[in-house]
Amino acid sequence: MHRTRTMAWTSSARWKSGWFKWWGACARSVEPQRPRALREAGGRGMIMLSGYRWTLEKKEGGGTVYTSDERFDREVKPWAVCLPGGAPLIRHAVKEGDFHGARWAMMCRATDYAKKTIVDVARYCVQAGWPVIHFDQEVSGNYAASVCYSDQHGHPVGHGKWAHEAMADLYKRIRETCAPLDPDFALSMEEPNELYLQQLNLCQERPFGITTEWPCRKPETRSAPLFMYLYHDYLVGWAAFYPWKAGGHSAEVVAKGFTAGQMPGLTPIGPADAEQDPALAEMMENCMKAYRTYALDYLLFGRMLEPPPIDAPDRKLQLGNQGETTVPAVWHSAWRAPDGRIGVALANSLEKEQGLKLDLTPLLPAGASAKVVYKTLADETPLAGLTVEVKVPARSLALVEMTIAGL
Ligand SMILES: [Zn+2]
Repeated sequence: MHRTRTMAWTSSARWKSGWFKWWGACARSVEPQRPRALREAGGRGMIMLSGYRWTLEKKEGGGTVYTSDERFDREVKPWAVCLPGGAPLIRHAVKEGDFHGARWAMMCRATDYAKKTIVDVARYCVQAGWPVIHFDQEVSGNYAASVCYSDQHGHPVGHGKWAHEAMADLYKRIRETCAPLDPDFALSMEEPNELYLQQLNLCQERPFGITTEWPCRKPETRSAPLFMYLYHDYLVGWAAFYPWKAGGHSAEVVAKGFTAGQMPGLTPIGPADAEQDPALAEMMENCMKAYRTYALDYLLFGRMLEPPPIDAPDRKLQLGNQGETTVPAVWHSAWRAPDGRIGVALANSLEKEQGLKLDLTPLLPAGASAKVVYKTLADETPLAGLTVEVKVPARSLALVEMTIAGL
């Protein structure tokens, strides 16, 4: 029935190849020893639930085939999303190896059956030591897949705002059940949605990407961290996943993701191993060190501001079958920390340091003065004036920090 995937992040500054291999090994398992090992390393484990999907048929390892038709007919069918006329909606894979399986139905989100099933799974996972529950594959609320024509489920037949109210109620129930079980409990969903800000702590999102892969659209769409600009102080986005959507430039998307205020996400699929992709490993390690120290008050706890003008060259990147794109030599973003300090995060993904000029004036109230300090992993340097020139070290994240006089 419900499929789960596991993932993990650690507060350790160093992402070792062993982590990636370990993560691959623990996929599809919720055994308590896995999250325990993570906690001992300073990290927390996340379980990804496959939304409201009820898998009817899926190939398993070793040539076996999982089926749940009998249980579906006996127990689930009355609560499944219905087509006009009342028959359950059954979806079929259109490609071999579809991660959904060969056939699946959807539990109707308005039903107590769906809510209770998902809350029970979430409770089980949190009790097993996984404090982060992620509701996956119901992208941004997935309204289109929720419209149900049953007249037996207690919701209006067909379209209506009931679909979002039902999801909000599910999240509320997950929180009420799981938050008391673990002080580190957090709730996440795939792709952000304003309607669930009050229930969520995290959301999986993709503004780190530099390609036109989904959710961007060819030929020219590029992702921008608009949701984080509006709502970062309400919930934190995490990248899904590095090095995806990189077009072969994995360190580049790490730079863009951190400056967008995202926590890192990693996957066992692809060249995520440090030996296979040393640029990704170096960028990730250096960004994590900055994220945990001088950048934390901004990139995690801060409110995103309009970025100030920057004087640095652009670069063209070839993206394979995704064409080409233009990126800045240094990614930058501006933030206000909870105590009023203002920081400009600067991420350089290249193997050489990059010089740039930054005009800080728009970030200050008219007539205000500020003490300006430039912070890198190596040192801190006072800067004079509000038009500053700095060099961002290779494959790292630096910070220009302003403390406004009188604060
Ligand atoms: Zn329904």
